[in-house]
Amino acid sequence: MTRAISLHNVSKRYGRAAPRAVDRFTLSVEPGEFLVLLGPSGCGKSTVLRMIAGLEAITDGELRIDGERANDMLPRDRDIAMVFQNFALYPNMTNRDNIGFPLRVENPREDRGPRVDATARKLGIEDVLDRYPSQLSGGERQRVAMGRAISRRPSVFLMDEPLSNIDAKLRNQLRAEIAQLTQEMGVTTIYVTHDQAEAMSLGDRVAVMRGGVLQQTGAPRDIYALPENIFVAAFIGTPRINLLQAVVHAPVNGRMTLDLGRQSLTLPEPLSVDHQLLRIQQGRPIVVGLRSEATRIGLPSQARPGEVPLTGMVEHTDYQGHEALVHLGIGSRPAVVADLESPRPVGSPRRRRPRGGPGVLGRLKELAAAQIPGPTTVTVGGPERRPYDPYASYDPSRAPGAGSLVVRTGPHLWLQRGAQVPLLVDLAQLYVFDHHGRRICPAPADLLGSEV
Ligand code: ADP
Ligand code: MG
Repeated sequence: MTRAISLHNVSKRYGRAAPRAVDRFTLSVEPGEFLVLLGPSGCGKSTVLRMIAGLEAITDGELRIDGERANDMLPRDRDIAMVFQNFALYPNMTNRDNIGFPLRVENPREDRGPRVDATARKLGIEDVLDRYPSQLSGGERQRVAMGRAISRRPSVFLMDEPLSNIDAKLRNQLRAEIAQLTQEMGVTTIYVTHDQAEAMSLGDRVAVMRGGVLQQTGAPRDIYALPENIFVAAFIGTPRINLLQAVVHAPVNGRMTLDLGRQSLTLPEPLSVDHQLLRIQQGRPIVVGLRSEATRIGLPSQARPGEVPLTGMVEHTDYQGHEALVHLGIGSRPAVVADLESPRPVGSPRRRRPRGGPGVLGRLKELAAAQIPGPTTVTVGGPERRPYDPYASYDPSRAPGAGSLVVRTGPHLWLQRGAQVPLLVDLAQLYVFDHHGRRICPAPADLLGSEV
């Protein structure tokens, strides 16, 4: 049996005055679906899982299991099994007893042997059943933990970063095994990770979270191709998408350009529907996003329809074997997205001001910070975050690596550092985000539907 899980405007506060660790979270997981919950550390993923499992009370909103309100259902009545990052095995029990433990709790008189053996066979751990967890490798231990979770044949699987403590090589193998196992069992699975590559390779659907807030849910390829905001665009994909500050110029009698600083992209006429939508951004700061595959090395005369020229100066080349990533200076200003790796923990209390007024030191620090040139920060959502200031003074020469564009090329091209290289940008692969960080190009479906 497998179950549908849905959350409706679910929030969690750890303590009355604490901010929301999970903030009005709404998501439906179909029976048998494999959903990956992805986000940087501290964004509230484990909290969501623990609320589903019944290990954490829900502050607000509703959890439904098969359509029925389950906020107050006892954990053991939810028929949910959970697998944790740290394996959480009983060290003084053999692996056999660890796997059989949930069965023993369920029905002490049943002969657990056959089910434990079948589970162990499925996971390829028959040989280690009579040893203790401490005698196993990390990979084997996590297989035992998985065994314990599946032996009971739960209706729902919750996995909280189960592969984080396992080394890279084995991780890929276990990842494939988990995918196969859950598919065979057809059990609804919610899998938590902070690793976008893992999320993309595993999930039927991926839900991206940030700061307690759900950002976007979709199939991996849709999230990659059409990120709804700048955070999702930056969080998904390796190498990270190039994000450049730009300004739209749309003169009445001229071509529309996206001014990147020292160079600009001129949009071809007639403008596509998406590019027409950029007209309303005239004079406003925006952010241009280009994935490394959106730009190629080529002369203007080699441009295909929809490609526009740019020039770059080679800074360095990352040789990757099957390809190379060329870092080029193009004289633009990078846009930096906050919270990608090390966010301010959502649950941590705000720093208090020292007693006796706002504090001179604080004021001085703020003043100094305002005058330091450097990449500005784009934020998405959360009114309390520092706003994006496109007009902050910025001197590319003082920020190493600034303004660089990473371009994917074949491995056989040898480019000398400092060389000037002609580039062609594919406009079909160009993203534009407004100053709130929302994607405006390619236009979201609801914008395309309406009159401009
Ligand atoms: P993630 O799993 O995405 O790393 P968590 O759900 O563990 O994030 O944490 C989300 C936020 O809630 C963090 O800011 C964390 O500090 C806070 N938090 C988590 N558990 C507790 C707890 N038991 N008490 C107080 N704050 C907590
Ligand atoms: Mg966690």
